[in-house]
Amino acid sequence: MKIICVGRNYRAHAEELGNAVPEVPVIFCKPDSALLPPRNPFVIPPWTQDVHHEIEWVVRISKVGKYIEPRFAYSYIDAMTVGLDFTARDLQTELKNKGLPWERAKGFDGSAVLGTWSDLPKTPQPHHIRLEKNGATVQEGSTADFLTPIEDLISFVSQYFTLKKGDVIFTGTPAGVGPVHAGDCLEGFLNGESRLRVNIR
Ligand code: ZN
Repeated sequence: MKIICVGRNYRAHAEELGNAVPEVPVIFCKPDSALLPPRNPFVIPPWTQDVHHEIEWVVRISKVGKYIEPRFAYSYIDAMTVGLDFTARDLQTELKNKGLPWERAKGFDGSAVLGTWSDLPKTPQPHHIRLEKNGATVQEGSTADFLTPIEDLISFVSQYFTLKKGDVIFTGTPAGVGPVHAGDCLEGFLNGESRLRVNIR
């Protein structure tokens, strides 16, 4: 399976990192080895001092597709959850400044956390995502605020990568990203329901 991620899909998050709001979606991938096995803690790698949490709405691809038109795109996903796109911000900043790819900062082991899946509603509607760190809300957003709606994201991505059943798309993070430290507990919510919980070591 592929893990496809969208960067800067919320205006406020692009601005908080000093990035321009993109004209076309920013896309990157994580290898499948990035998936944190269920119920495992997230262990901060020794080569970074600044791992950030990014809570995101995540959708799952239900069938193979390429050059998908936006009007058909919604039928290519069948489940949703929240996920964490852990990012080594110090390394990402260094790579960005050199104009180099982000993979080491974004695709390392354990950097992709998936919550439990829930069925997708029959028709598209806004979804609310929220992240608590040690019981306090640190990130919150609505998919209604996407710069690129989900149908257009699926269509765009499928121009480059054939989508296959079981692939997942992380759709970008709202404002409020910040560092995690050993001993922290993160809990992610989709439409008010707890979908993931991870301890930081
Ligand atoms: Zn992200």
